[in-house]
Amino acid sequence: MSKLWNNYRYLILRRFTQIGLLVLFFGANAWGWKILTGNLSSSEILGVIPMSDPYAVLQMVAAGAVVATDLLIGVAVVTLFYFIVGGRAFCSWVCPINLVTDSANYLRRVFDIDRAQKTKQPITRNMRYWILGLSLLVSAFMGIAAFEFVSPISMMHRGIVFGMGFGWAAIALIFLFDLFVLKNGWCGHVCPLGGFYSLLGKFSFIRVHHLEENCTLCMKCKVVCPEKQVLHMIGKESLPVLSGECTNCARCIEVCDDDALRFSIRDFIQNKKMGE
Ligand code: SF4
Ligand code: SF4
Repeated sequence: MSKLWNNYRYLILRRFTQIGLLVLFFGANAWGWKILTGNLSSSEILGVIPMSDPYAVLQMVAAGAVVATDLLIGVAVVTLFYFIVGGRAFCSWVCPINLVTDSANYLRRVFDIDRAQKTKQPITRNMRYWILGLSLLVSAFMGIAAFEFVSPISMMHRGIVFGMGFGWAAIALIFLFDLFVLKNGWCGHVCPLGGFYSLLGKFSFIRVHHLEENCTLCMKCKVVCPEKQVLHMIGKESLPVLSGECTNCARCIEVCDDDALRFSIRDFIQNKKMGE
């Protein structure tokens, strides 16, 4: 039992958080609960603390909208939170799409699809940053928050909380894309919200730290990591994972039997000396 908990503790906590948040949003809509109201773009805790998705607000600003003060306060709250816990913690601990993409990744490992697809990746991981820039340009050009209109994240969230419409089709497409076309295809290559949080996460405090002296080069961490390029130091140097693309999902920590990975608080001074 304790081994099972040890190997899946963060995964269990992440699922508990992701599903718990959906239940709270659902409860607000269905039964008038006041704990967490709104949606993933703009919400309130207990009717008091506003939270706003900074990327959605950035699109609104690009579109020329006048942004209300409570939205700006919400942006500050969310930015500060992810600045501390890691930008892409949103992806692995909050975003409902992560349930879909993690399932596709799991099936890829079970059926060894990665080995069958050894050919060069058809698109680069930098694509998400290009889409991010493009979404802001389109917002400015069309006068609407462009990605919010087509976001499968909002579709899935709205679908679960308010009743699923065409969202299923978008979710199914992402699942099939990740399963058969490209490993970690949507989140690691396409999603501009993930790209935005990667940029924010570059400067965040809580990082995964690698202890080279404990590493036995089993590479289990790289097998489960959805962004394995961030683990370039494995078996080479004791370093924190400084890339903002790390989602702080902690899968690498829990699959490591040698205690060679753990969470730590970023040491900005030492990282600077190392030339990071
Ligand atoms: S990359 Fe996008 S879809 Fe994937 S988990 Fe992050 S925000 Fe959600
Ligand atoms: S390095 Fe670890 S915490 Fe970061 S994305 Fe990979 S598995 Fe998750």
